Amino acid sequence: MNPTKPPIVKSNLTFFIVINILGLIVAPIYGLIFGFSAAAWILFAVLLVGSGMAITAGYHRLWSHRTYQAAWPLRAALAFFGFFSIQNSILIWAARHRVHHRHVDDEDKDPHSIKTGFWHAHMGWMVRDWPTSEVDFDQVKDLKRDPIVMWQHRHYWTMTWLLNLGLPVVLGLAFGDLLGMLLLAGAFRLAFSQHCTFFINSLAHTWGKRSYSDENTARDNGVIALLTWGEGYHNFHHAFQADYRNGLRWWQFDPGKWLIAACSWVGLARELKRTPKFKIQRARLQMQFRQLRERLEQAGDAAPTWRETFDREYQQFKDTVALWQAVQADRVQAGADALRDRWRRIELRTRYKELEFRLKMQARRLATLQQTVTA
Ligand SMILES: [Zn+2]
Ligand SMILES: [Zn+2]
Repeated sequence: MNPTKPPIVKSNLTFFIVINILGLIVAPIYGLIFGFSAAAWILFAVLLVGSGMAITAGYHRLWSHRTYQAAWPLRAALAFFGFFSIQNSILIWAARHRVHHRHVDDEDKDPHSIKTGFWHAHMGWMVRDWPTSEVDFDQVKDLKRDPIVMWQHRHYWTMTWLLNLGLPVVLGLAFGDLLGMLLLAGAFRLAFSQHCTFFINSLAHTWGKRSYSDENTARDNGVIALLTWGEGYHNFHHAFQADYRNGLRWWQFDPGKWLIAACSWVGLARELKRTPKFKIQRARLQMQFRQLRERLEQAGDAAPTWRETFDREYQQFKDTVALWQAVQADRVQAGADALRDRWRRIELRTRYKELEFRLKMQARRLATLQQTVTA
């Protein structure tokens, strides 16, 4: 990266300073001394959830990654609450995010590469006019066909200021808590939720487990998921970005996934993309094998029998993957017509299930092996 720092973007810097002082210092002190009205708390909650969901279910999973299709009322609602996030228009956000995925960790291309430092990934990339922060609209040609996206893009800043100042002022006057409304539902809500989103670029590339891939710095972290409406399972997300889920397991905190699923039940969302179970399990096992190999190498001559077990398990893993590829090829060859045949469909499904089960059992054996070698 260029050793001489580019000029500061004064508007961004001023905005961040003002909103963070008001939101994180003034608002809590004011709240402790004077308290906030119930109306201010309600608007705070509505805008916090609304803008959070707009980013995760809308900006991120719908528009940046196209992990599902949404009906226009849902798209309109997500675009509307996007005004409250103050994270720029969908078009600009998605353009940068797609570059982040394509060139993750690359200091010269990724807009917020963690390799350039924690602060840079968190906020620094917005405070200076870095060449990597430039928007490449060629990344989002598909989104230009969405009239809701384009309308939001054209009116982004007018609507953002109008809504973010107007709504708390009108409701503040109506309920007799103007300052409380502005500080809690305006400044504190905004500063808090922006830092939570920024954590995905900083903390979720620093702290947590790499269960699916170690080809990039993205991590899975349940604590970050709590702060980011489920976006903390970032290692899974970078490995399988076309999946509408980030928290794969049912118990993993991912309100983004729950909202999308709920919308699909009432017809507002469709074509939800899920990564085949086998592919997910295969990625996990590959990581387990890699870690186990490292441990065995460290153990040196102390673990010759385990090395044999390892080799046998690894061979079995490769065989299962080859079998799965054969089933895939079979399915393609059978063509769409054959898949209409019920018997053929059931036969294929059973074969997939058997192979998934094989990997699942192997993952269990490997976990035990890992513990044994460590002990
Ligand atoms: Zn993403
Ligand atoms: Zn990332």
